[in-house]
Amino acid sequence: MAADGSGNIRELKNFIGGEFVASGNTFENTTPIDGTLLSHVHEATKEMVDNAVIAAQKAAKIWSKMPVEARCKVLYAVADGIDARSDEFIEAETLDTGKPRSLASHVDIPRGAANFRVFADLIKSVGTEAYQQDTPDGLGAINYSVRHPHGVVGVISPWNLPLLLSTWKIAPAMASGNAVILKPSEETPTTATLLAEVMKEAGMPDGAFSVVHGFGENSAGEFMTTHRGINAITFTGETTTGGAIMRAASHDVKALSFELGGKNPSIVFADADFDAAIEGTVRSVFANCGQVCLCSERVYVERPIFDKFVATLKEKAEDMKLGRPEDPDTQMGPLISHEHRDKVKGYYDLAKELGATVVTGGGIPEFGDERDNGAFVEPTIFTGLSEDSRVQKEEIFGPVCHITPFDTEEEAVSMANDTEYGLASTVWTTNLARAHRVAQGMEAGINWVNCWFLRDLRTPFGGMGLSGFGREGGQHALNFYSEQKNICIKL
Ligand code: NAD
Repeated sequence: MAADGSGNIRELKNFIGGEFVASGNTFENTTPIDGTLLSHVHEATKEMVDNAVIAAQKAAKIWSKMPVEARCKVLYAVADGIDARSDEFIEAETLDTGKPRSLASHVDIPRGAANFRVFADLIKSVGTEAYQQDTPDGLGAINYSVRHPHGVVGVISPWNLPLLLSTWKIAPAMASGNAVILKPSEETPTTATLLAEVMKEAGMPDGAFSVVHGFGENSAGEFMTTHRGINAITFTGETTTGGAIMRAASHDVKALSFELGGKNPSIVFADADFDAAIEGTVRSVFANCGQVCLCSERVYVERPIFDKFVATLKEKAEDMKLGRPEDPDTQMGPLISHEHRDKVKGYYDLAKELGATVVTGGGIPEFGDERDNGAFVEPTIFTGLSEDSRVQKEEIFGPVCHITPFDTEEEAVSMANDTEYGLASTVWTTNLARAHRVAQGMEAGINWVNCWFLRDLRTPFGGMGLSGFGREGGQHALNFYSEQKNICIKL
């Protein structure tokens, strides 16, 4: 059955200059649920990326000069357009990724639409700096700054939260007056194509938003990062890809914003609300089959509650229902692809080789139906590994955690910070002073206390170290998507 449930295989074309364009060179998009073919995707050629840039440069002149109110009206219409076609978006996202429908319908799609409203609201109210300055003649000067869009922004996005993470960039970039060229992940091209349709219906000027499909190296991704007509690149994905993009974009020193991988710690103190900590850890380890950059892969539990915590989390993991997205009982879908499953399973095997205790999971489930052709993997918990093992150092990006006991706060903080990554952390405690102390001691960009994935979209979002640089969210995003120009007036 195809993406639209009709038995027809879709064709996903590039969206350039307001038109859907075929390249003739297609690649297959299959679902990780059971391997069924969903669509043929037209891989953009270099010439198509050139055309998208030319159209974007032309459109940027119109889009950036539109009154802010008028620009926001189009962005609100885009949000409404996603909402109006929400069922189609949810179905496309669940088939491309395999994630439960409940997740796509509560998080991915509504938050994808909300991004356009949030940044349209914000651009109408955001201010800039102004200073009065003394001068030797006593008359003074005034300095103020204004925002100036970059022009053309390239958005390169990953497969784990396709619409949500791409619109998290597209919306502030467009609200700031830039034209955008989106390259969605080759694994999840469908909602980007639907978004192009919504943009057209919403009255977006031709060329202000384009979608080019394809891969990284020697394909649409690299054509974008090396293109002199693209002024800024905003990227979410793996750290090694970030490095490749940085090198490619160095020729014309493009502005870069990178949201990269993580190896996030979660610290559970003995004084924590036990049930809340368990509930939160189940989410922070297994949500989206562990494929959220913010997921906890390293869990540190204070020794007095260690055995009880491990036993309870094991029970929860074993109760977890793996299944198809449309089944309302499904809590976990498959990984994104067989290739990614090989990687995750490789870490499961490595953990065993290194002598880990397999608390639960560690393998590939067998269903006895068509799901056996999918990319499912068991939710897994390990204990017993040393902190310097590869399993504790490298991002796995699957439904797995390792639990380590600790005796003192200092020890927990030191182990949690012993990583080259620095994206997110979670602390579970009812001790107020400790909550602040430990959260502030974490070397990570996003730190939660007694919660996980609770997001106020105005707050800074981004990583440290190998997790990237630059901050998204609220005004921080607007600061990246515009140059602030200073005007100095001598009085
Ligand atoms: P990926 O790096 O493999 O791919 C991301 C995108 O980059 C895709 O569109 C891909 O086609 C493109 N790409 C690959 N090579 C390229 C190249 N040489 N030039 C230009 N583009 C290229 O990442 P993924 O596997 O799609 O996503 C998973 C990763 O993303 C994980 O590491 C995860 O932690 C990270 N991630 C981070 C955040 C965050 O906010 N920090 C959020 C989500 C995911």
